[in-house]
Amino acid sequence: MDNLLQTAAMYAQEYLRELGGRSVAPSAGAIDRLSALGGPLPDAASSPSETLALLHEFGSPATVASAGGRYFGFVIGGCLPVALATNWLADAWDQNAGYFVRSPVGAVLEEISLRWLCEVLDLPAQCAGAFVTGGTMANFTALAAARHAVLARVGWDVERDGLFGAPPITVIVGTEAHPTLRKVLGLLGLGRDRVVTVPVDDQGRIRADALPPLDWQPTIICLQAGNANTGAFDPADAICPLAHEAGAWVHVDGAFGLWAAAAPTRKHLVHGLNEADSWATDAHKWLNVSYDSGLAFVRDAEALRAAMSVSAPYLSQDEVREPSFFTPETSRRARGVEVWAALRSLGRAGLADLIERTCHYATQFADCLRAAGYAVLNDVVLNQVLVSFGDAESTQRVIAALQADGTCWCGGRNWQGHEVMRISVSSWATTEEDVARSLATMLRIAAQERH
Ligand SMILES: *Cc1c(COP(=O)(O)O)cnc(C)c1O
Repeated sequence: MDNLLQTAAMYAQEYLRELGGRSVAPSAGAIDRLSALGGPLPDAASSPSETLALLHEFGSPATVASAGGRYFGFVIGGCLPVALATNWLADAWDQNAGYFVRSPVGAVLEEISLRWLCEVLDLPAQCAGAFVTGGTMANFTALAAARHAVLARVGWDVERDGLFGAPPITVIVGTEAHPTLRKVLGLLGLGRDRVVTVPVDDQGRIRADALPPLDWQPTIICLQAGNANTGAFDPADAICPLAHEAGAWVHVDGAFGLWAAAAPTRKHLVHGLNEADSWATDAHKWLNVSYDSGLAFVRDAEALRAAMSVSAPYLSQDEVREPSFFTPETSRRARGVEVWAALRSLGRAGLADLIERTCHYATQFADCLRAAGYAVLNDVVLNQVLVSFGDAESTQRVIAALQADGTCWCGGRNWQGHEVMRISVSSWATTEEDVARSLATMLRIAAQERH
């Protein structure tokens, strides 16, 4: 065991050391060579160290270097050293975090983390929280609580009786809601397309003046904190009071945007969001902990418990918080460990710096590209930049050439009818030098495209 773990640590360190010198996207050859990991399932046992060596030799080169400082695709954070190291320790613990009795440390670290998170994310202190795999499941979990609560108000027990024959729920979303939110609505039996969509403005924000009349209950309104393209926030301060007056539930998909609350110069963006009823976010995005780490928060703790407890009655007060009473899964790893470690180690100042720094780099990208004559299509309020390098074909060619070059990685989108390259700065590992190198490469490739 000792030798094997030491070898794994050595490979991991070697991997991380070499990350800055390799292409951000793996080469086609490295992907081809993954076939070395296949073949028939061996009949005989072999040494674990041989398996580990094989994985490092063929697996490591076929990774995307998203753990490095020059990956700007999708909205993908890195992994803080403290999160990686505590993840190793927690894997050695091999805890089943479903119940307190199976892992006191897992349960307690979740509870501490949730309290700290409510403080830094500016959420109501009475919120119940759930540790889940990611933003998708965080939205699922929070919206399951919403579904419970809005139906309970009209006398329907959805956990017991299901949705057949239930009073129909009106679900309101913006036209730029994240695609996974529609998937979640499908999983919950609320329907991917059985929604009322509200038009958005030129930054993808729901137009409060275009909300339908809230004259039907039950209703759930889904807002967004951090549009995955523009970084923009829906106007919660205008919508929450209207919604609550009408008796509707307001849910916020804040997969990355909710972290703006922790940064003094961005805090204004979350104004009014803490008036909502539930929130979803990703710790694997902006807190930069290891996968998979989503978080759901629900103001009405009993609504979450009702939706997630294994058995009724769920109302009994326990001595301890049972993690699985708040989350869809029972057996799972102790996800609270890395979140606790990241928050404990960063402190308020470190977290603020992480968010501020990445936002600052996004502004730097935008300013520099604009100065070179390229169009930045969004208001860069957070960590997201949408840039066009001319017509659709030129932009697509620049993106393809940039990805092939390997210095950095950005993806393409079609956003509000425009082909754009999206730059998302979400990693602790990105440095001033990474930004400078990436910008120089973008400008060189875009200039070649111009001629
Ligand atoms: C990333 C993201 C999601 C989905 O989160 P996963 O962790 O990938 O499941 C949902 N909504 C928004 C706004 C996101 O940025």
